Amino acid sequence: MADSLHSKHRMPLDEYRRKRDFAKTPEPAGDRKPRSRKIRKPKTLYFCVQKHLASRLHYDLRLEHDGVLLSWAVPKGPSLDHRDKHMAVRTEDHPYDYGEFEGVIPEGYGAGVVMLWDYGTWQPEVEDVDAALQKGDLKFTLDGYKLKGSWVLVRTRDRPGTSASQQGRSWLLIKHRDHWSGALDITTFAPLSVKNEGDFDDILAAEMPAIWVTGRPGTGGAPSKMLREVVAKAATKIVERERTPEPPASRRGRPANRKPPRSR
Ligand code: MN
Repeated sequence: MADSLHSKHRMPLDEYRRKRDFAKTPEPAGDRKPRSRKIRKPKTLYFCVQKHLASRLHYDLRLEHDGVLLSWAVPKGPSLDHRDKHMAVRTEDHPYDYGEFEGVIPEGYGAGVVMLWDYGTWQPEVEDVDAALQKGDLKFTLDGYKLKGSWVLVRTRDRPGTSASQQGRSWLLIKHRDHWSGALDITTFAPLSVKNEGDFDDILAAEMPAIWVTGRPGTGGAPSKMLREVVAKAATKIVERERTPEPPASRRGRPANRKPPRSR
């Protein structure tokens, strides 16, 4: 069976590109060549978690591997509690340069708002990542701002009747018990962007209003209640910002109605 998720070859970015119209989305196309891996293996591998408010809120865990980002969508987000097993749906590999993206996907696949929720480096706890993926058991260590320590992604059995394209996509994300595990609800405790401490509405408000005023996020389906609330909050922020008189361009610059300082 041709299941690209199980194949030994790296999943190319075809699926990522096929789902997106780069004339309409600010997401990176992944044209940039990945950093050369041939000379020596890099010591550090990038990882990130993007909190993605699309038709449903979820957290996209991405691990750099062979120049792309292996990706899993975790609806509940990561849990630091080693007793939790959170569903993680393997999604298509993303281009490396997607990993720092934070912004608005105006329409089409994944339409909504993307927040860079955590990033850092990761290390496989296995010799061969491809073999671990094929086996369905990838142990790894994260060193981010919010997520640290040892984790595992375990593939689960497909439920009967799972369509061919969805087979092998169902995994669980589990925190190993270690110094960094605990009962703290990290998604509630640290809900904001690791880039600028903004929330979804701040990300939206920072974008060109035309994107969402005329385009409306989530044209692929009805926008979720949460997304509608975020859009409303962002609109309020923009209105308030426009109402507030511009502060002086520079505090050090002298206002026009004041006498110029005496020459020394
Ligand atoms: Mn997503």
